[in-house]
Amino acid sequence: MSAVGVAVLGSTGTIGDNTLDVISQHPDRFRVVALGAQRNHVKLLQQCEQYRPTYAALAEGQAARELEQGLRAAGLNTEVLVGEAGLAQIATLKEAPYVMAGIVGAAGLASTLAAARAGQRLMIANKESLVMAGPLLMEEARRSGATLLPIDSEHNAIFQCWPAGAVIGEAPRGVRRILLTASGGPFLDWSAEDLAKATPEQACKHPKWVMGRKISVDSATLMNKGLEVIEARILFGLPIEQVEVVVHRQSLVHSLVEYVDGSMLAQLGSPDMRTPIAHALAWPERIDSGVQSLDLAQAGGLEFEPPDVLRFPCLALARAAAAAGGLAPAVLNAANEMAVAAFLEGRLNFTGIAAVIAAVMDQLPAGAATDLPSVLAVDQEARALALREIAGA
Ligand code: MG
Repeated sequence: MSAVGVAVLGSTGTIGDNTLDVISQHPDRFRVVALGAQRNHVKLLQQCEQYRPTYAALAEGQAARELEQGLRAAGLNTEVLVGEAGLAQIATLKEAPYVMAGIVGAAGLASTLAAARAGQRLMIANKESLVMAGPLLMEEARRSGATLLPIDSEHNAIFQCWPAGAVIGEAPRGVRRILLTASGGPFLDWSAEDLAKATPEQACKHPKWVMGRKISVDSATLMNKGLEVIEARILFGLPIEQVEVVVHRQSLVHSLVEYVDGSMLAQLGSPDMRTPIAHALAWPERIDSGVQSLDLAQAGGLEFEPPDVLRFPCLALARAAAAAGGLAPAVLNAANEMAVAAFLEGRLNFTGIAAVIAAVMDQLPAGAATDLPSVLAVDQEARALALREIAGA
């Protein structure tokens, strides 16, 4: 068996690090053909020296030029590709039919859609592409025969609890509901008063998962879970009433499926992204991920509690967007990205994030998501509105 080629988009981020770690453990099965990132040319150069990919892509032009110089100085002949088009190109390579879509935010949308259109094994860690353009993405995948595999730990868990032979995008018969578990983030027990004074540093200190800054803030507001509700609806073809959220502080149960006969299936494991990544890389087989086994006796109790949507209104906003469908999730996502960036830069307080999103959603009646241009147009409109709200906050 010759090693299958893999393109890792977002290679310099957390998902990228974990993907390369799993791949490194299986040189007989996987080979890094392409690496892509937004702008971190220093780290991408190090990765090129280690993995010797055929292609490396960076979204930003200046960063790509720096990478090019570094590669030549190191005597490497990796071909450098630039911009969104460069990222889309490495997502559609014949010699890299496995694509990890790990770029964070709307920036990963075009390359993820390109991979779906090209019929790749698309391992989706970029939740924004499902949130913003879920129906379009699913349609592209159906048309090309692309294999979609969720990397988000919750969706990967649900897929692992799905009946054998079930297809992504269609709800199998006999499912009563799915339950997405939420760690609750670092502010779970904070009062509404303290939440208003929460700092970026506090928000980025997640108790269970090591993550990037944007997703850490999303986890603290519970917007991450809200985006995952939207994502789950699309991936699993269930109406919003059948998608629930339960807070589970230990982060050991990664999500559950309840069937109509009363059976509940759950996927458990140490909170480590290498498990879903290894699952998606090897599916339908299983390979070692390097994750140590979970000692249940040592872990002790598993607790579950309902989420508090009054202190964490982002969850309710996301459910409303999911129920409205069409472009509403794209509006929510765009407003959230702007609000989170403003919070991280100290221009907005923590509770202002939900307020900005609510105000933008109120002002933008969202129609149907007919094509990518309409999604991108509403994304821009929502961003502009969010900026205005942030300036006035
Ligand atoms: Mg998740």
